[in-house]
Amino acid sequence: MSKRIGRFNLIRTLGSGMSCKVKLALDTKTGKKVALKILKDNMGQRDRELVETEVAAMKNLKHPNVIEQVECGQEMYIKADGRQRKVFYIVLELAAGGELFDFVANSGRFKENVARYYFKQILDGLDYCHSNGVTHRDLKPENLFLDGNYTLKLGDFGFAGPVEGRDDSGYLRTILGTKNYMAPEIHLKQPYQGRTVDLFAAAIILFIMVAQHPPFTSATPNDPFYRCLAANRADIFWKNHCQNKENGDAFFSEEFKQIIQGMLQLDPSHRPSIPDIREHPWMKGPMPTKEQILQEFSKRDLIVKKTIEDEREQKLAEKMKRVENQRKTMRGVGQSGSEETKFDESG
Ligand code: ADP
Repeated sequence: MSKRIGRFNLIRTLGSGMSCKVKLALDTKTGKKVALKILKDNMGQRDRELVETEVAAMKNLKHPNVIEQVECGQEMYIKADGRQRKVFYIVLELAAGGELFDFVANSGRFKENVARYYFKQILDGLDYCHSNGVTHRDLKPENLFLDGNYTLKLGDFGFAGPVEGRDDSGYLRTILGTKNYMAPEIHLKQPYQGRTVDLFAAAIILFIMVAQHPPFTSATPNDPFYRCLAANRADIFWKNHCQNKENGDAFFSEEFKQIIQGMLQLDPSHRPSIPDIREHPWMKGPMPTKEQILQEFSKRDLIVKKTIEDEREQKLAEKMKRVENQRKTMRGVGQSGSEETKFDESG
């Protein structure tokens, strides 16, 4: 008997998060493969709220660059041995290509034209979410997924919020997100706009795609790189980032530098909006076709899968070594007549 939840046959584990396990599953009604999130029974209040936020935010979103939430509900989880328990589950569109993060981290930096291809998809997805009243608030390469054709999809909406604020003032106040991607106004605990902070994070992601490392650690005055940008000394920022790069000062194109500088400005009112960004000269540059992306990314995919597999094997080997060491220590304890052994004898 195969494992299943309702009409979904579970195939294998895709990953796990703080509050869930994500399984590859077959929807027996449509014949399509999906990602099925099974929520943990022992979730705390905070995790429960994040899940509720995610479900509510994604419910009405349907766009080629946003992971689709197919359905959610409660069903019996039937294990292979027939045991059953009721679980809460969320069915998501499958991101068969995995996370953008793994591609940048493990298969090398992207040329500017490839970064442009994906940055445009980020903008398209964001523009759609914002137009539908949702701000993501936790954009980072780990939350950008790729489908089987290497098309980018925004995912993980656990920190999403209403783009117009809870009181319709246009401003949000809750301090959340991932520190390295937060806009300076969030660090400063000021009310902020969802559109603007999502675009700030998008600029950091764009930089990472091209450089393979972030532009700064955090957008605060303590960070020497961000301090340069905030003080209009972008020349120093770029000089430092071009050190040790092939082609030195010519590593980043001038238009790339301009778009990044503009989007990472300290004052949110000076940063370009999505329509402004679309009109920027850098955005008008060449872009690969879908076929070229398929070709390049299927090669990258092999490297990514091998790295992930190697890491898994290394972790397993380390675990085995730890177990073996523990076993040796335990044997050693018995043979040397240690405290524990003596205690037994006296008892
Ligand atoms: P959490 O929000 O609790 O951290 P995630 O949503 O990040 O959980 O999911 C955990 C992991 O499951 C991800 O890192 C990813 O590997 C995998 N995963 C999540 N959603 C999908 C999806 N739609 N398609 C494929 N894999 C997914």
